[in-house]
Amino acid sequence: MTTKNFYPTKKIGTFYPPQRVLMGPGPSDTHPRVLSAMARPTLGHLDPVFTDMMEELKSLLRYAFQTSNLLTFPVSGPGSVGMEMCFVNMVSPGDKVIVCRNGVFGGRMIENVQRCGGIAVVVEDKWGAPVDPQKVEDALKQNPDAKVVAFVHAETSTGALSDAKLLCEIAHRHNCLTIVDTVTSLGGSPLKVDEWKIDAIYSGSQKCLSCPPGLSPISFSERVVELVKNRKGKVQSWFMDLNLLLGYWGTTRTYHHTAPTNALYALHEALFMLYEEGLEHSWARHQRNHTALKAGLETLGIEYLVEEKSRLPQLNSVYVPEGIDEKEVRRRLLADYSLEIGAGLGDLAGKIWRFGLMGYSSKMENVMLCLNALETVFSDMGKKIEYGTAEAAAHYAYAANPLPQQAAPVKAVAVA
Ligand SMILES: *Cc1c(COP(=O)(O)O)cnc(C)c1O
Repeated sequence: MTTKNFYPTKKIGTFYPPQRVLMGPGPSDTHPRVLSAMARPTLGHLDPVFTDMMEELKSLLRYAFQTSNLLTFPVSGPGSVGMEMCFVNMVSPGDKVIVCRNGVFGGRMIENVQRCGGIAVVVEDKWGAPVDPQKVEDALKQNPDAKVVAFVHAETSTGALSDAKLLCEIAHRHNCLTIVDTVTSLGGSPLKVDEWKIDAIYSGSQKCLSCPPGLSPISFSERVVELVKNRKGKVQSWFMDLNLLLGYWGTTRTYHHTAPTNALYALHEALFMLYEEGLEHSWARHQRNHTALKAGLETLGIEYLVEEKSRLPQLNSVYVPEGIDEKEVRRRLLADYSLEIGAGLGDLAGKIWRFGLMGYSSKMENVMLCLNALETVFSDMGKKIEYGTAEAAAHYAYAANPLPQQAAPVKAVAVA
C-alpha cells in the first residue's frame, strides 16, 4: 500500500495577521476591547455563568434593535445564516413572497424564497436607488395572496438606504409579514424594530458593531412565532428550525449545538459598548464621519452613486474618476497604507469603490488617512492634486458638524 504525502510543502508557523485599516463593505475594524473579550477563557455553553451572560446579551440586543421581542438572539453563523433563518422558518412551499431587489442582497433573498419552495414576486429597482414604495404597493395589489414582503434596509452593494418604516406599513396594510435585512444598518443608521413594526429582522456582527464576523443577531415578533409554531410541514433545515433552537436560547437550555462561546463574549462586549455610547450617538457619529469623508472626496472630483437623500453614511459608493486605474488604487492603498476599501459588485464592478465607515472604523483618523492616501496615489497616477485640500475640506466639515454631547445611555427597552 502506498501512502500519500500529506505534509505541507510550505513551512508553516503561527499566523500573525497584519494590522489593517478596514474601510470596505465589511468586516470593519474590531474594537480592542472586543478582541480582548474574545481571548478570555472558554466556558461550556451550558455553564450557568455563560447562560447568565447570554441573558444580558439578549437584552443588549433588544436595546440595539429597539424592540421588546422576547425572541431576540444571535444565530451562530454570519449574516447569510440570519437571512436563511428568516426564510426557512417563514416560507412554506407554495407561499408567495414579494422580494425587493435593488442590489446583491435582494438577489440572495430571491434565491432563499425559491429554495424554500416559495414563489418570489420580484420588485426591481435600479442599483443605487432605494426600494420604490409605490412599486411594492402595486405588487401587493396584483398579488393579494402574498404572505411576506422582504427587503434590504441598507444595501451594502450600492450604499442605498430604503424607507423601512414605510415599506413595513405598506406590507401590513396588505396583511403581509416583513423580513428586513439590517446587516449594515444596525448600529449605523436609525433603526426601530417595534416602532416600525418589523416582523423578522436579521443583522451581522461585523459591520457597524465593531465585532468580528460570524454571528447574526435576529429578532422575531410574536406574529412570526405564531406562524412558525403553526406551520404545517417541518422546517426543511434542522439547524435553523426555530422550534428546536428555542430549546437552547429560550429558558429550558437544552443542548442544540455548541454555541461559539468566545465569539459571543465579543458580541456581548460590542453591544455593551454600543449601549455605553448610546444608539443615537452612534448614528450621529456615523453621519458625521460620512459628511467629512464626502467633503474630502468631492474636492478630489469624486461623485457618489446614490442620491443624497438615500445615502448610507456607513457605506460610501463612489464612481472611479476618469483616467484612474480602479484596481491599482486598491492595490496601492493596501500595500502602502494597509488600508482596505471595497470594489464594486456585479454590473458596478470596475466602476465604483465602496468606502465603509462602519463601527470602530467610523472615526476621524480613518477619514484623514484615506483622503491623504488617495491624494498621493492619484497624484502618482498623473491626476493633478493640490495636496492637503481634501483633508482641509474634511476638517471644515468636522468643525461645522460637532457631535452632540454624549447622552447618558438610553434605557434598555426591556430586560426579560
Ligand atoms: C454583509 C451583508 C450580508 C451577509 O452577511 P455575511 O456575514 O457576509 O453572511 C447580508 N446582507 C447585507 C445587506 C450585507 O451587507
